[in-house]
Amino acid sequence: MTETEARAAIVATAQAMERAGLAPNRSGNVSCRFDGGLLITPSGVPYAEMCVADIVALDLAGVVRSGSRTPSSETPFHTAIYRSRPDAEAIVHTHSPRATALACTRRGLPAFHYMIALAGGPGIRCAEYATFGTQALAENALRGLEGRQSVLLANHGVIAIGATLEAAYEVACEIENLAGQYLQMLAAGLEPVILDDDEMQRVMAQLAQYGR
Ligand SMILES: [Zn+2]
Repeated sequence: MTETEARAAIVATAQAMERAGLAPNRSGNVSCRFDGGLLITPSGVPYAEMCVADIVALDLAGVVRSGSRTPSSETPFHTAIYRSRPDAEAIVHTHSPRATALACTRRGLPAFHYMIALAGGPGIRCAEYATFGTQALAENALRGLEGRQSVLLANHGVIAIGATLEAAYEVACEIENLAGQYLQMLAAGLEPVILDDDEMQRVMAQLAQYGR
């Protein structure tokens, strides 16, 4: 993939995220690895108007390599994830409404549905709260992501990672869907039946077989 193609893929993913209602009021951001560093969405540019020239190239320390825009304010957790998670090729961060509502209760998602396994384990954690844009948030997010492709951020939103932008985006969409189901059960006063770890291991093996 050329740098222009990678920049275009980030713009397309960011715009899809907004059209799907996962990024209200310019929230969220998208990045992918490129050439030993990363490409990331800028801060303050409406998604509908974003173009390839707005994407910012950074090294893994977060230093700007090229681009006239200011990189996303959440650059610290993007660089921290790429530095310590070799499996992460792309990151989608959202403030998607239902997952964010759940994250504001500082609860994660238990294995109430088998698709929780899409995020790599028998449950999705809610990382401890820290102020947006800080190194402390990056560290909390990394801990919450251990062995997972997604984490909720307390009183904030969601991070999804993947081997491709498409995979990270798919996880972000599924987390929003699952959070909606979970909130509906809680709102109805119903307790979900939680799938046990053995079953979730079988589900993960099945998902791997079907190339998810
Ligand atoms: Zn955010």
